[in-house]
Amino acid sequence: MPERIHNFFAGPAILPYDVIKKSFTEAVNFNGLGMSVLEISHRSAAFDSMFTEAQKNMLEIMGLSNDDYAVLFLGGGASTQFCALPFNFLEKDKTADYVVTGGWSKKAVKEAKFFGNVNIAASSEDANFSFIPKRFDLTPGAAYVHTTSNNTLVGTQIKNFPQTGDVPLVSDMSSDFLSRKLNFSKFSLIYAGAQKNIGPSGVTAIVIKRSWAEKARREVPTMLAYTTHIDKNSLFNTPPSFPVYIVGEVMKWILEQGGLEAVEIANNRKAGLLYEYMDENSDYYRCTVTDPASRSLMNVTFRLPTEELEKKFIAEGTENDLIGLKGHRSVGGCRASIYNAMPYEGVEALVNFMKRFMAAN
Ligand SMILES: *Cc1c(COP(=O)(O)O)cnc(C)c1O
Repeated sequence: MPERIHNFFAGPAILPYDVIKKSFTEAVNFNGLGMSVLEISHRSAAFDSMFTEAQKNMLEIMGLSNDDYAVLFLGGGASTQFCALPFNFLEKDKTADYVVTGGWSKKAVKEAKFFGNVNIAASSEDANFSFIPKRFDLTPGAAYVHTTSNNTLVGTQIKNFPQTGDVPLVSDMSSDFLSRKLNFSKFSLIYAGAQKNIGPSGVTAIVIKRSWAEKARREVPTMLAYTTHIDKNSLFNTPPSFPVYIVGEVMKWILEQGGLEAVEIANNRKAGLLYEYMDENSDYYRCTVTDPASRSLMNVTFRLPTEELEKKFIAEGTENDLIGLKGHRSVGGCRASIYNAMPYEGVEALVNFMKRFMAAN
């Protein structure tokens, strides 16, 4: 087996090879301290400079200022944010709007209902989430509007977020965080489990507008209150040190690429290659996203003519060093996750395999 194979897993997922290589050697003797980054106190100067640099670079990539936004690196996964968000911002008898575009959105709705009313502002569930709704039925004066920017399981991505006016806009960006240019200042809260696009599992990035955080309810358990972590610059308790270190290295990598503009161009080029090939051969490789404008640049979902062929496709893919092409167990079919770190050559290798497979089957 070659040292690196083509990794299409949805998460944990591919990371930039240079980051993996550098992190695992340099981290052994971190900053020449004679200790690894795993072994140093989170109260030490060396850790602090690594941690704050990761926060600073993330804000720089997003075009946001530290005066307006706080970056938190917390444990618990994006799933914990499903409940932390309404706990902080949705009071009993108040309403939050949720745009439901896939299985993860539904999980977020379930948690919000523990705290207050939920208005489903739009949903494409009746059509198996095969498109992103274009019209949103928003509640005037809602506590916030929650969106899922990229739907990892069904392969759709929001291109036009709802216009929410004064109502805070929130997004679960777990599977496309920092994959494209966005006007991030429109958002009051963004959260993302790192393991899809910006790092390993174990850390969740939260970017929150400071002025909104100040309006949160006070009677929230300490660890779930955003203000706790903002007040301590995300070091209220021990952070997930090593995952944050890798996220910091990925931030440097994004800046080296030329920031989000360059990253977006590369992602468009990769996804374009794959979608174009499928559209030309749609009687064999059928994209499950019916509305082309809703297609994800990160998770490309498709079906083959039969489930037997899909099984064979996935198995032969693995034999050909193309791993992780199985669709999520809740939706079936095939899925190629082509996050930031996936090189263009990886997608080329996939398309070449798809051509050979179709010719032979
Ligand atoms: C993977 C994923 C989650 C869950 O993330 P965890 O960190 O495992 O809790 C939530 N939302 C989206 C969009 C995801 O892709």
